[in-house]
Amino acid sequence: MAEFATGMRQIRKTIKKSAEDIAYMSSKGGFNNDQVKTTMIDTYVEMVEEMQKLDKEGQKLEEIIEVLINDLKDLDDDDDVPTRSRYDQLYKEVAKGKKNVAGDKQFFKDILRGIRNEDDETEDGEEMEVMQVQHSRKDPISKKDIVNPVINEACSHVYDRDSIYEFAGKKRSIKCAMQGCSETITLSKLINYPEYWNNIKQQQ
Ligand SMILES: [Zn+2]
Repeated sequence: MAEFATGMRQIRKTIKKSAEDIAYMSSKGGFNNDQVKTTMIDTYVEMVEEMQKLDKEGQKLEEIIEVLINDLKDLDDDDDVPTRSRYDQLYKEVAKGKKNVAGDKQFFKDILRGIRNEDDETEDGEEMEVMQVQHSRKDPISKKDIVNPVINEACSHVYDRDSIYEFAGKKRSIKCAMQGCSETITLSKLINYPEYWNNIKQQQ
């Protein structure tokens, strides 16, 4: 399993190398006209954003495996061997941000900024909005009090289960409705999040 963690780090390195290649391609320019340029930049940005997701996912697995390895090291004869449910529990913890796994955020931020050719100011403004913390007991869509909290692991935004299902209708995935958030919510992947109430209390 130690090899798995090393392998995962290797994969993340390769992903980042590919992102750098894309940034290099975009810097070469050579676009026929502005429309082609805009389309290509959008495509490059999309590719790098996908890579960032993979990097984040890779780091999650890395963290989980490391915890599992330590579990095994500390194992006494009468302890239970880590099980599938232990893995699920760790995955949930990581997803909820307890372990604060975000991948190599700064790296991808710089790459994307390079591709978009943006200056620092606009990017920082966006970042502030994305980092906006959810302090409210209200559901972001219905603006009513949350009854059954569910969390979108991609961005840690919390919704009321009924509200988001009603809002999505027949769609399986929707864009996160929190202002400034560009993550996608896949309804089947929403995680029940009763701990939300504790977090809210601590913040108040
Ligand atoms: Zn969100």
